[in-house]
Amino acid sequence: MSDDVHEVYAVRYGRHERKAAENYIHGDPHDVLEPLDFYVWAIVGKSGPIILDTGFDAAMGKKRQRELIKPVGDGLKAVGIDPAAVERVVVSHMHYDHIGNYDLFPRARYHLQDCEMAYATGRCMCHQALRLPFECDDVVAMVRKVFDGRVAFHDGEDEIVPGVTVHHIGGHSKGLQSVRVKTRRGHVVLAADASHLYAHLESGRIFPLTYNVEEVVEGYATLKKLASSPNHVVPGHDPLVLKRYPAAKPGLEGWVVRLDAEPK
Ligand SMILES: [Zn+2]
Ligand SMILES: [Zn+2]
Repeated sequence: MSDDVHEVYAVRYGRHERKAAENYIHGDPHDVLEPLDFYVWAIVGKSGPIILDTGFDAAMGKKRQRELIKPVGDGLKAVGIDPAAVERVVVSHMHYDHIGNYDLFPRARYHLQDCEMAYATGRCMCHQALRLPFECDDVVAMVRKVFDGRVAFHDGEDEIVPGVTVHHIGGHSKGLQSVRVKTRRGHVVLAADASHLYAHLESGRIFPLTYNVEEVVEGYATLKKLASSPNHVVPGHDPLVLKRYPAAKPGLEGWVVRLDAEPK
């Protein structure tokens, strides 16, 4: 394996049953369930594992009425990653389902866009509609990490390690960033919430929770441009990810899949 080629895993930790109409601005004509899954992602290469997002814990799942299926740490350990040894965490954005479990990675430095921190601590949080997906304790925990010297800020596009770059997308949250990873099958793009489901990316429709609609639809084009093919873009909350990609190893079906493997 050359120095800049990585393995990539999606680790599912939670689920939320909801109707399709709840997933799109202007709703959806089909009266069917279209659940969301909750994931964190692990990028494994020569410079050690990089974790994208930290999920939520059991207490937050209960508070938000989201089902915690398996704790984030268990999923990482299942593919041989010790959270206590992780040195790099990339935070796609600061919504409650992406920055919880904040004591799980005691050695890690957190990589965040400047404008996400400004957004989550500034005047927009005066508005109930905009602060809805944020938790004060999560934001405070990240501010403490800033003061502990454990946050690295990025402004737009930046390299984390050779073969792994972050890209500011915005849209769903002001400082949302996606991650591009060089793998054996080309460049895989971990969209996180830049596209919740494959359907958003494929149909150009928009998830209701949105800071800026223009940036969402422009973001879809950016994701496709960054990836080796549209098939290389991995949405942030789609249960289909677990069906399209093979289990990381036998016994992990429906839990941890390998995103650097060819999809089925
Ligand atoms: Zn989000
Ligand atoms: Zn999310």
